[in-house]
Amino acid sequence: MLRDIFLGFMRVHILYHASLNPVYGLELMEELESHGYHVSPGTMYPILKKLEQSGLLVSEKVNVKGKIRKYYSITEEGGNILLESKKKIRELAREVLEEEL
Ligand SMILES: [Zn+2]
Repeated sequence: MLRDIFLGFMRVHILYHASLNPVYGLELMEELESHGYHVSPGTMYPILKKLEQSGLLVSEKVNVKGKIRKYYSITEEGGNILLESKKKIRELAREVLEEEL
């Protein structure tokens, strides 16, 4: 159950960072680690795959010093979902933190 909740938070982090710059899996794992989420590749890559299959992210393979790295960017649909999520986060934070933001 706790995992389900955190997975939602992690998806929002991913969409947010992909909205700033194209991002790749390892980078996102480190970013999430800095927020206290311990994410293995076995968790991260299926999430990215699903977000792409759902049309929220789009990937591009880039050759970085001879290694192929998959960069993910947000789609227009992903941007809409992120915007909607922000509204919900604001409302949720206001309620559960009992503060005016
Ligand atoms: Zn983040």
